[in-house]
Amino acid sequence: MNQLVVSKFGGTSMGDAQCMLRSAEVAFRQKSSMVVVSATSGTTNDLISLGQKAEKSAWADCETIIRKIQDRHRKIAAELDSSMDSHHKLDALFEEMHSLAKGVNLLRDCSTKAMDALMSLGERTSSVLFTEAMATVLKQKGSQKKAKLLDAREVLKTDDSFGRAKPLTAIVAQHCQRHLPDMRSMNAVVVTQGYIGSTEEGMTTTLGRGGSDYSAAILAEGIAADILEIWTDVAGIATTDPRLCPQAKPISEISFKEASELATFGAKVLHPATLLPAIRKNIPVFVGSSFEAEAKGTWVRKEVEQHPLIRAMAIRKNQVLVTLSTPEMLHAHGFLFQIFKVFNDHKVSIDAITTSEISVSVTLDDSTLLNKKLIADLSEIADVHVEENLSLVSLIGNNINHTSGLGKEIFETIADINVRMICLGASKHNFCFLVNEEHGPLAIQKLHQKFVEMA
Ligand code: ADP
Ligand code: ASP
Ligand code: MG
Repeated sequence: MNQLVVSKFGGTSMGDAQCMLRSAEVAFRQKSSMVVVSATSGTTNDLISLGQKAEKSAWADCETIIRKIQDRHRKIAAELDSSMDSHHKLDALFEEMHSLAKGVNLLRDCSTKAMDALMSLGERTSSVLFTEAMATVLKQKGSQKKAKLLDAREVLKTDDSFGRAKPLTAIVAQHCQRHLPDMRSMNAVVVTQGYIGSTEEGMTTTLGRGGSDYSAAILAEGIAADILEIWTDVAGIATTDPRLCPQAKPISEISFKEASELATFGAKVLHPATLLPAIRKNIPVFVGSSFEAEAKGTWVRKEVEQHPLIRAMAIRKNQVLVTLSTPEMLHAHGFLFQIFKVFNDHKVSIDAITTSEISVSVTLDDSTLLNKKLIADLSEIADVHVEENLSLVSLIGNNINHTSGLGKEIFETIADINVRMICLGASKHNFCFLVNEEHGPLAIQKLHQKFVEMA
């Protein structure tokens, strides 16, 4: 039986008509049954600034952004020689964009719910265009299959945490069964949107920035796919971000556990949650470049052949270190419980943590500081000290917490860089530490030279 393949194409793979046709060729070659697409590159950012301008500025500023977004999509539609039906669909989406922005502008209020509705238009317009590109390629290749547009909101059901909604996986599977019962035998390539979903009541939600990878994984789980492919602008996962370190090398195979650590600790190539559904259902994930589809790319699997000590490294920027101190912690119990309860009440996730006799330090994304109540609540149980402009540097590999001498080698390599906090021991796969933001790139370059280029 044919393998059921879900392929996701990111913003740059959707950049213009040529990129869309190239991506559609990749989907055809890979025999994809479902294609999940991002907004065209730059559009989500434009929609966010549309929401912000509509809330704070004059209507004329909003019209400028709306025109820019429309022109970009109309140009692609023309280049793809789109059908009248697609033009009508685009007209309706642009009208919705106009009405939503007008509503925000009149109310002077862009709630996270309104922002999600606005942002959804990025993927909803790009998917109309990609359906055209897919249809063109299928026709050119003489395939009998049709390109069929699916509104992801019909199947990708989420909770109502607008802006970072959580997929309701069991319900997604039920909806996939109902809407896409015969995926393996279907004479069509289903094109749908990444990033967006809807509550059970039908309100539009988004999964958080970069969330199309996660959507594709959730849908792959929902339709019980055999393979998930993430097509982007780099030929697979590399030993570090190639933009930071041009010597970065492609990785041909990496385990679920290592790749999850890499994504969580800052490698933008995969949204941090992408691998959760793949791990749950043991679906192998391929990462490749739609611009260089013949390059080897990376396979992410449960079992891999090689288990190097250091496979890759990542950097997570915009970190803050929050240190909570109180003499009451001395010989007392329950202090950590109280602290974690505050973080839990505010739905804040902690990345790394260290403790001493009377203090606890945790790293958080700096956006959490926007929530002033969090710091106020923490201040009621301890003295709070916040350090900003930090980056978390991580080395990812195997058996890291059982290898003698590794810490010495790491810190000798970056001896001239001040390290604010170290996290070692909890994970076999990760060693991370905190440095000032301006030292992050140099730390990665030096560590990459030592542990990858010279290894
Ligand atoms: P897309 O729009 O296709 O989702 P992203 O920009 O989200 O693409 O992710 C791809 C980018 O991730 C690459 O251009 C690269 O700069 C960055 N990146 C960060 N870490 C890595 C890594 N270890 N390997 C490959 N790419 C990485
Ligand atoms: N378009 C969304 C973003 O830019 C989602 C994605 O591309 O993955 O964040
Ligand atoms: Mg991405």
